[in-house]
Amino acid sequence: MKLLQGKVAIVTGAARGIGAAIALKLAEQGADIAFTYVSEGSAEKAAALETEIKKLGVNAKGYKTNAADFAACEAFVSNVLTDFSTIDICVNNAGISKDNLLLRMTAEQWDEVMDTNLKSVFNMTKQVIRPMMKAKSGSIINMSSIIGIRGNAGQSSYAASKAGIIGFTKSIALELGSRNIRCNAIAPGFIETDMTHYLNEGEAGKAFLEKIPLGRFGKAEEIANTTLFLASELSSYVTGQVISACGGLNI
Ligand code: NDP
Repeated sequence: MKLLQGKVAIVTGAARGIGAAIALKLAEQGADIAFTYVSEGSAEKAAALETEIKKLGVNAKGYKTNAADFAACEAFVSNVLTDFSTIDICVNNAGISKDNLLLRMTAEQWDEVMDTNLKSVFNMTKQVIRPMMKAKSGSIINMSSIIGIRGNAGQSSYAASKAGIIGFTKSIALELGSRNIRCNAIAPGFIETDMTHYLNEGEAGKAFLEKIPLGRFGKAEEIANTTLFLASELSSYVTGQVISACGGLNI
């Protein structure tokens, strides 16, 4: 028996990077996958992921949905319920970074990061808890970051959004524990994706590498493995927690 046999999982921002690895990992363990992406440029990747997941013998569908838009999330979850009947797992993974020193940061840049990274988690969680309460079970997993715990120069908006996710996660765990709905966050360190392509170029990457006890950047699949633990009954007594998957990074 697979760990997620018969379950339905939402993964936001899954056309590439960590989200794609999570969608595949949960599907390998038997979950049907409803995932989102936002840019026109990712439509082909989303279609390819849908095909790849279906080859694993589960259902999959990609929806072009802006996670920062409340009404769009409402419509998305309604469509998922029509297409898949229920929602057991919600992985709020979609995120962006717009790095800039505070002196140069514009209000628009701040808002874009907060809306995409933090408001999106509210938008989606607000929608998925209804079917989860009905089913008297659910697992919500929010993608924070080690930067949300430690902070980082040039990343104040990103750090604030990711720290906000942690406060939200702990509060939802308290609100919905009695309904058997668990809510946890993952704090990845530096993971090799489009978001962190700069790590392989120049001094910044080398400087971070020296601070990682495991001596390497992480892989998207390693975050997917942590997500699988939180999505499945392997973590049935875990809620309101932040699991750092960062190679021991201490910045
Ligand atoms: P990528 O940039 O590789 O992928 C980001 C994904 O989010 C894309 O699929 C993108 O969609 C989607 N996305 C962005 N904005 C929106 C939106 N408004 N609505 C819906 N989807 C959106 O990032 P990663 O895979 O590296 O990161 C995934 C998550 O992990 C993020 O939350 C990030 O902050 C977090 N994280 C990443 C770390 C890393 O080192 N990589 C470290 C710590 C945390 P599209 O393809 O359509 O553009």
